[in-house]
Amino acid sequence: MSESFDLIVIGAGPGGYVCAIRAAQLGMKVACVEKRDTLGGTCLNVGCIPSKALLQSSESFEETKHKFADHGILVDGVKLDLARMQARKGEVVGANVKGVEFLFKKNKITWLKGAGKIVAPGQVEVAGQTYATKNIVIATGSDSAPLKGVEVDEMQVVTSTGALELEKVPGHLVVIGGGVIGLELGSVWKRLGAEVTVVEYLDRLAPGMDGETAKQFERVLTKQGFKFKLKSKVTAAAKTAEGVTLTIEPAAGGAPEELKADVVLLAIGRRAYTEGLGLAEVGVALDERGRVQTDGHFATNVPGIYAIGDVIAGAMLAHKAEDEGVALAEILAGQKGHVNYGVIPAIVYTWPEIASVGESEEELKARGQAYKVGKFPFLANGRARAMGDTDGFVKILADKETDRVLGAHILGPDAGTLIAEVAIAMEFGASAEDVARTCHAHPTLSEAVKEAALAVDGRPLHI
Ligand code: FAD
Repeated sequence: MSESFDLIVIGAGPGGYVCAIRAAQLGMKVACVEKRDTLGGTCLNVGCIPSKALLQSSESFEETKHKFADHGILVDGVKLDLARMQARKGEVVGANVKGVEFLFKKNKITWLKGAGKIVAPGQVEVAGQTYATKNIVIATGSDSAPLKGVEVDEMQVVTSTGALELEKVPGHLVVIGGGVIGLELGSVWKRLGAEVTVVEYLDRLAPGMDGETAKQFERVLTKQGFKFKLKSKVTAAAKTAEGVTLTIEPAAGGAPEELKADVVLLAIGRRAYTEGLGLAEVGVALDERGRVQTDGHFATNVPGIYAIGDVIAGAMLAHKAEDEGVALAEILAGQKGHVNYGVIPAIVYTWPEIASVGESEEELKARGQAYKVGKFPFLANGRARAMGDTDGFVKILADKETDRVLGAHILGPDAGTLIAEVAIAMEFGASAEDVARTCHAHPTLSEAVKEAALAVDGRPLHI
């Protein structure tokens, strides 16, 4: 047996590396196994960070081309240097993953390089060595879900990973799946010049998002030039010398039609990743969707083995994985780690952005909760006007009786930053009145949050 540890975390994504850091802070001797060449998991390497780098660059390109003239800034001959844009993305990723390596050194966490396999409770094998440990955390994340009839080659038919690496702007990009990842990466390539068509099985975009907000989002994206084929399913993808020919059928059944694409992005969701971990051999139970089953406190059915992040049930979000990592490390240290699943913000980083926290109107109706709605449009917000970003609104949902904030849905500029205020309000059990009575600086976008909170009680000041 090689070295022994208090904790071995398998997977160095936001769940795993944060869990390792917090456990080390709490005095444990920690190792983290990662089979990638760099730390940071999906999020830092092929997810959140590279996608946001490209979203930022493509937004700057679009602004320079189409928005600056409105401000009286005339720029001639704006050109795209995609190779530089991709190189910059690589630099952003590089700095982030190196940052995690630094944090591991700082916290004296051992990086065990290679694929980890649980050979028995308390034993993890990596690169031919077996390490003993008091506890094991599975934080192996997720990968893209496949679709029958659509074979990924990461060149013509790509997942999000390939869509982040394209060396040429596709003439026509077809995105299969109208969820967050497809719409974000669709936005990148749309802004850089591609025609983008999104094929979605449901009758709406972004399933799970507040219905009214999703509808408005669809309008805004349509205005930007996105084409949508809703209630449609892709049943086959044939690669030709010119590109890819997709066969599309109405979701409810009917005559198929063909759609030609230069590149197809398959983005129908992600699935838990547990390959090669040896879970069946040690008897760790999975649920019906292949996720590691846990008891609500991250414990699996096998004592000493825990799981967090995308590999367990719940929203597949980096900050959810991180919070679970912290909570679990604290539980293992004998503290009372906790995640409030009712207050996990979710953001779509298109422009305008969409951000939600808490429940949607559909969810409130489904559980028979009486509620009040306050809405305020960015069109009536001075700062949004100054920015020239007036699409969207802030919508706050509050308990009809107690006025407690139950949810917020923001479509608009910097929605992802604005939602943090409502998340804190909800965490503290605030009422809409509490938010409305808080002094908000002028002129800021956050005044739209205050106005929506005032509107809950029917007394907005600026509409
Ligand atoms: P992961 O980040 O998937 O990390 C798991 C790690 O485990 C991987 O590095 C993998 O190599 C390693 N591993 C797996 N098996 C083994 C093994 N047996 N041995 C050793 N190592 C192993 N979320 C957000 O919150 N905001 C965003 O903006 C956002 N954007 C995204 C954009 C894209 C394109 C994608 C694909 C995802 C995005 N996500 C975003 C989701 C986010 O990336 C995930 O929710 C998050 O990475 C989950 O963290 P995790 O630690 O559970 O797993």
